[in-house]
Amino acid sequence: MSSQQQYSFFQSVEKSFDKAAKFTKFDPGILEQIKACNSVYQMRFPVKRDNGSIEVIEAYRVQHSQHKSPCKGGIRFSDEVNQDEVMALASLMTYKCAIVNVPFGGGKGGIKINPRNYSVYELEKITRRYTSELVKKNFIGPGIDVPAPDYGTGEREMAWIVDTYASLKPGEIDAAGCVTGKPVTQGGVRGRKEATGLGVFYGIREVCNMPDVMKKLNLEVGIVNKTVVVQGLGNVGYHSAKFFREAGAKVVALAEYEGAIMNPDGLNEEEVFQHRKKTGSILNFPGATNLAKNTDALELECDILIPAALENVINGENAPRVKAKVIGEAANGPCTPEADDVFVKKGILCVPDMYLNAGGVTVSYFEWLKNLSHVRYGRMEKRFTENLNSHILGQIEALTGKTVSDVERKFIMHGPEEVDLVHSGLEETMISATREIMAIWLSNPEIPDMRTAAYVNAINKVATSYAELGIFP
Ligand code: GLU
Repeated sequence: MSSQQQYSFFQSVEKSFDKAAKFTKFDPGILEQIKACNSVYQMRFPVKRDNGSIEVIEAYRVQHSQHKSPCKGGIRFSDEVNQDEVMALASLMTYKCAIVNVPFGGGKGGIKINPRNYSVYELEKITRRYTSELVKKNFIGPGIDVPAPDYGTGEREMAWIVDTYASLKPGEIDAAGCVTGKPVTQGGVRGRKEATGLGVFYGIREVCNMPDVMKKLNLEVGIVNKTVVVQGLGNVGYHSAKFFREAGAKVVALAEYEGAIMNPDGLNEEEVFQHRKKTGSILNFPGATNLAKNTDALELECDILIPAALENVINGENAPRVKAKVIGEAANGPCTPEADDVFVKKGILCVPDMYLNAGGVTVSYFEWLKNLSHVRYGRMEKRFTENLNSHILGQIEALTGKTVSDVERKFIMHGPEEVDLVHSGLEETMISATREIMAIWLSNPEIPDMRTAAYVNAINKVATSYAELGIFP
């Protein structure tokens, strides 16, 4: 907890929950149960470093809620991992899944290491040992708890997890569904990698397409020419920047932990990424200006600010200096409750993490379904659709005596591939979630901000599902 911060991360999630619970009518006992983390597993295990020394690793898996099974949520590798953080992140997963109608409870895992300080071999040993600890305690499995990537982890770690799990559970036909975010060759789904960033884009695009909301913010409707600042060039930040740029927005600044760069004419995330790979730093990118501190990027004049790194980066101290009109929380918990109060006063619209970054878990859900059904999306219908489209087009051309252009023909004929279905499922999910939350917010003038409206939506759904389950004696 920093000196300006009054609450731990978990307490700040509870605080936001309580703020929203006032707008619901559920039994206080049910609300207490929803807030509580059901199971917290803290573990320590040794790893032999490449230099022969033994190090004790601290790690966690938290299952916040089992109102739906399995529990779901990523595993992060970071120096900052602690029990409070993992509990907060697991809680956010419960609410996130509820909002986007993904039938999972919330979970989260964390290993307290900075992956940069370990060799690939050491990381593999740590990940595999962590997985076997989860197996031992029945904390992982396609119907129990399904991890995924998060800060500091990706496809590679998920491949190690599924391989370890499957080797410890011979004959388990659904073993591939024990983790999501896997490489496509190991049972992953096409479209998972970019899912969180694409979901952030779809969510913000929907908000920017709402004329009343834009009018209040004094902004034009649409994404074209909006200025965007992105903090974090990891998987989520990179893809958010990419989709905004491709849609005609201008990414005017990018920040990473070593510094930030700015160019009012716009930055190309891929070029910046390559520059960082080559030089080891985002700084000194040709044509861009370096900013003194990476946090300066958060205070730049822009239409949309996307914090896509870690929690608590915008707090009571720096929120008064934020000049963005819309904040899109791509990270989990980037703005504190004190920052929320400042945004309400300043008329800044903060689009909350717990639904805006739900693209990752939404596509994880698609991946899990693919694993359980043992068939690739599109396999059954692609050819059928193409034959049907070709027939319809032939009929139209025969009846009208006209032919369509080759470009149009290609577009009309195209039967859905896996990636098309995943992207369209994600687009639909993010648009519906945005509209649902906005409708709740607009229906009650007492609800102060969009985060509270999102929590109201989540509480309604989770509490209703508890009521449907009944309570065990
Ligand atoms: N780690 C991501 C999140 O925070 C994805 C979780 C998942 O796919 O289960 O939402």
